[in-house]
Amino acid sequence: MKSETVVFKGSKHFVLNDVAEGVFAAISVPGTGSLGNAAIIDLGDSTLVVDTFTTIEAAEDLQAAAEFLTGRTASYVINTHWHSDHTFGNQVFASTAQIISTSTTRRIMDSFARKRLEQQLANPEAIYQAIDELEVKIQQELDGKLKKEMEWDNATDREYIKMLPDLVYSLPTVTFDHQITIHGSRRSVEVLTYGGGHTQSDAFVYIPEDKIAVTGDLVLSKHHPYMTYANPQEWLNILEKLEQLGIETIIPGHGEVSSLKELHEVKGYITDILNIVTDANHNKESIDRISVPEAYQDWYFTGYFKTNLKAVEDKIKLG
Ligand SMILES: [Zn+2]
Repeated sequence: MKSETVVFKGSKHFVLNDVAEGVFAAISVPGTGSLGNAAIIDLGDSTLVVDTFTTIEAAEDLQAAAEFLTGRTASYVINTHWHSDHTFGNQVFASTAQIISTSTTRRIMDSFARKRLEQQLANPEAIYQAIDELEVKIQQELDGKLKKEMEWDNATDREYIKMLPDLVYSLPTVTFDHQITIHGSRRSVEVLTYGGGHTQSDAFVYIPEDKIAVTGDLVLSKHHPYMTYANPQEWLNILEKLEQLGIETIIPGHGEVSSLKELHEVKGYITDILNIVTDANHNKESIDRISVPEAYQDWYFTGYFKTNLKAVEDKIKLG
């Protein structure tokens, strides 16, 4: 049902981009608690939202934007993967929408991710302490880009910890294992998974007629991908399959609206990380002192470079 007049004055959490008629990217503003990107898709007689940000406040703005842009609240929400910056706003949509993920993503949200959240709720002091420690580092940091990134991290964590007591952890209500198609009067969208690459299970939304994909963190623009839960080889395989779909526009999990160029850059990054670690191990060198290659020095999430090397090294050692 169409709402009468919805006023949306914009959001501090994201910037809206018109990607196609009725397809909108909500690109995260750093340091505001949204952290990840989201998307709003007008299906004609219903509205679909992809990913729900980290904080309740950011998700409320997303719902308001969906209402403003499409004239109705979201009936469908897709969680591309289990990470909190794509799922923790679910509660805002839970009373009016079906929340859809792969069955593996839901299982992880109901086990590992839930446990981690419970630990944080039981011991929020640990997060406050991390914030204080980072604050000291920020004061000492001389590199302007690193300083800015750390300030964003701390601002995001402050938003997160402020929200935690109000969080109603909301799981997906509909799951699938390969593909689900959602039909609207104006367009149909496919929600697909090719397995797990960035996480144990990654889904993406594909709009064939507009050649658009909303990829979650399978593709990022100018951000180091987060590889702690990744299977790098599978990730590369998934991106190769994605490439075959004839996509022209990508709404990535982080960073600005993209094209296949950014998909290729992520492939290059994963390959580079694999090669750097393999070479270091071969030469019996420590990965600790390897600095960010020139090609990625202007990318954000700089801190992930070292944790990515470590994650990949651990994975290689485990075999
Ligand atoms: Zn993310």
